[in-house]
Amino acid sequence: MSNRLATRTSTTERILLGDEALAQGAVDAGLAAAYGYPGTPSTEIMEYLLRLHDRGDGPHASWCANEKTAYEAALGAAMAGGRALVVMKHVGLNVAADPFINSALLDLHAGLVVAVADDPGMHSSQNEQDSRLYAEMARIPCLEPATQQEAYTMTRDAFELSERFRTPVLIRLVTRLAHSRTAVTTRPPVAERPRMRPVDSADWTLLPANARRRWRVVLDRQGAIQDAVAADHTTLTLRSGSRLGVVTTGIARNYFLEVLEELGEKPSHLHIGAYPEPEEKLRRLSQEVETLLVLEEGRPIVEHRLHGIVPSGLEVIGRETGAVPRDGELNPDLVRAAFGLPERPHLTVTGAEPLELPNRPPQLCSGCPHRDSFTALQKALDGAEGAVVTGDIGCYTLGALPPFRAIDSCVCMGASVGMAKGAADAGAHPVVAVIGDSTFFHSGIQPLLDAATANTDMTLLILDNGAVGMTGAQDTVAPSSRLETLALALGVHPDHCVVVDAHPRKLDAMVEVMRREIAYHGTSVVIAVRECIEHARKRKGGAA
Ligand code: SF4
Repeated sequence: MSNRLATRTSTTERILLGDEALAQGAVDAGLAAAYGYPGTPSTEIMEYLLRLHDRGDGPHASWCANEKTAYEAALGAAMAGGRALVVMKHVGLNVAADPFINSALLDLHAGLVVAVADDPGMHSSQNEQDSRLYAEMARIPCLEPATQQEAYTMTRDAFELSERFRTPVLIRLVTRLAHSRTAVTTRPPVAERPRMRPVDSADWTLLPANARRRWRVVLDRQGAIQDAVAADHTTLTLRSGSRLGVVTTGIARNYFLEVLEELGEKPSHLHIGAYPEPEEKLRRLSQEVETLLVLEEGRPIVEHRLHGIVPSGLEVIGRETGAVPRDGELNPDLVRAAFGLPERPHLTVTGAEPLELPNRPPQLCSGCPHRDSFTALQKALDGAEGAVVTGDIGCYTLGALPPFRAIDSCVCMGASVGMAKGAADAGAHPVVAVIGDSTFFHSGIQPLLDAATANTDMTLLILDNGAVGMTGAQDTVAPSSRLETLALALGVHPDHCVVVDAHPRKLDAMVEVMRREIAYHGTSVVIAVRECIEHARKRKGGAA
């Protein structure tokens, strides 16, 4: 631990994003190591830790190839006795699901906290899955802050909880909390902890006999975990005579508190900041009221669960019943509507002429190298009837939009390569997969191994801009020079693994190479190289 942190002995007030508050909470909890993969809205957690680490002021922190490798690194750090944090966005937990679920069965003796930022409303994501469901599937505790202050304190608590019950603990943020900034009071860091080796390797080796024994341990501790988190992270306010009970979770509490003053009959209120849900408090609330309104950001998880907890005659309403919309983010107006309150007055612009604002769809930056690669690809495929171009996740997904309309799909990290193989196997021709360098390192390597081994008739176009452009131009985990070596090592024929310059002045050369490799009846790879302009600006010291 750094001297600066170690000597901070009093509380301090700082202005922090929700992401940064979580990161600082981890540091003050005695974090030994943090790992992650960039993904909106979680990226700023690792960026905060990396800034501390780079100036010699914080624990080990590093980006990893993907969320699974990040999770496994964090697990290894915990195995070695250090408190560990792993960071990802919600869909990243799909990638890390294998070690995540299995790690619940291990006998953790050093805290492991899994910070996952969900994106309800899909501001920058392909779905709005709810990570609380993952915590339930793994049977591990989940903490859900409602404020930046709670993001800080709950992260500290999460490490304690993790070590008390020897389990990973998930902290769920959502976009509005992760990306808004307010004053947070931080406390002095914990004293440095001794690091211990695992007490029994049988509790870390999930052979079937060990796993069966450990699974019973996981199940047996559920009641104690539920009692512990209910005591520390849920609050029940009963108001006599009130017929309505409101259950809030996480950030939904803020929206409810905004409307509370305007309600004539104040409802009873249970706030849930941690899971498993506090069944006893839910029963107590249900005995006092006729209707329960559930306000939760994400899926109607608590609303569903209530049906097995409260008396069957009690009315339960929420996202599932349509009292609040089933999809998208909550906001104060939607919560007002759920209570029958009118919309808040909106600012209107008055004047002689109505303001006509142009529609501005997202676009690749002016000067972005992907523009030249897509232009070349369009020319190379000109006249190719039935061409299939599978896309992937990154800035270049915008190639699906005008003026390029250059890709036909985007599903998940790395899917472009495997889907191209499948399309070619099904008889499509020509087939091109388009993927960025970082996404290739994340999840494109294994499907290219499949394709190259079968010498599938497809072309993989790797757009190598040396950066994770979409999340703020972070460095790619490995240097670009490894791409060609990797493709060859995976079995791509050396004559059909070509590096081109993605520069407008080299457009004709790019088109010629793409045409030739697309015409080749086997697996070919074209690596189009030019640095992301935002990454170049950042590297030279400008703001990204
Ligand atoms: S951030 Fe980089 S990769 Fe993304 S659009 Fe801008 S220049 Fe292109």
